[in-house]
Amino acid sequence: MILPNSFEAAWEYRLPSPPGDVAHHFCFYRGGLLVSQDENARQWPVSNALIRALLEPTPVDQHPSRRFIGYWHGKACWGLSFTDQEFQNLEAMQAGQRDSGLRFEALRALFNRLPDEVLAIAGRAIQMLEFDRSHRFCGACATLTKLHEGGRSRRCSACGETSYPRVAPAMMVLIKRETMFGRQLLLARSPRFPAGMYSALAGFVEPSESIESCIHREAFEEVGVRLRNIQYFDSQSWPFPHSLMIAYVADYDSGEIQCQEGEIEDARWFTLDALPQLPHRLSIARRLIDAVIAQA
Ligand SMILES: [Zn+2]
Repeated sequence: MILPNSFEAAWEYRLPSPPGDVAHHFCFYRGGLLVSQDENARQWPVSNALIRALLEPTPVDQHPSRRFIGYWHGKACWGLSFTDQEFQNLEAMQAGQRDSGLRFEALRALFNRLPDEVLAIAGRAIQMLEFDRSHRFCGACATLTKLHEGGRSRRCSACGETSYPRVAPAMMVLIKRETMFGRQLLLARSPRFPAGMYSALAGFVEPSESIESCIHREAFEEVGVRLRNIQYFDSQSWPFPHSLMIAYVADYDSGEIQCQEGEIEDARWFTLDALPQLPHRLSIARRLIDAVIAQA
């Protein structure tokens, strides 16, 4: 996936202007983005007239889940979650004569089929909608919360507790070593991976931990090795549901491979001419592995 690391200059966050602003809608249902299908291509945006028809009788600007996301090329972008009933309206419309080719498609399935920037904004929209859904009530006193700071946070009207969207930093590290057989990569597989696939190590940062401490801890916990010369590679937002993946390369220092039970099914050193099945070429894991191979 090539979700941009940051939005381009066309992106802007300022408070939404009064109604009348030309708007884009990012509509979701169960994690899928509303797109129209034209031959084999996926099209976004879906016209506001169609969205209005699907949401009837609720006016789109009074929809309870609709929330501001930001401006893109001067147009206000809004996220909106369809209810079960509204989804059924769509199904009924498709079944009738007004078949519009509309469908909800998982964001992951749209990689490379919609422009990167649209995917990045959709990734922001789905995370903000999920934030609203899961933070309707104050975690301290259980009073209803309201959007605050133009929608960047939610605030409790009783006790003032403020919540922000969750972003969970996670590290990824590709461990390498030079041997008489050439460069080797330490790749591991989680029991959750597709059969035969191996990847770099990854794990979530814990409270009070730096990224570097997390990398050392995870490498030792998961495969029992010590590292040195940790170098930053790149980062990527991963909105499934709210991670920020921060990727590094490191040199092997010491230790024998020992797999952590329940977490790592297998881990081993691979030479570059005998690599296993790797993650999809759109993932940051694959870009990281490809970059380290290309260096060798
Ligand atoms: Zn409260």
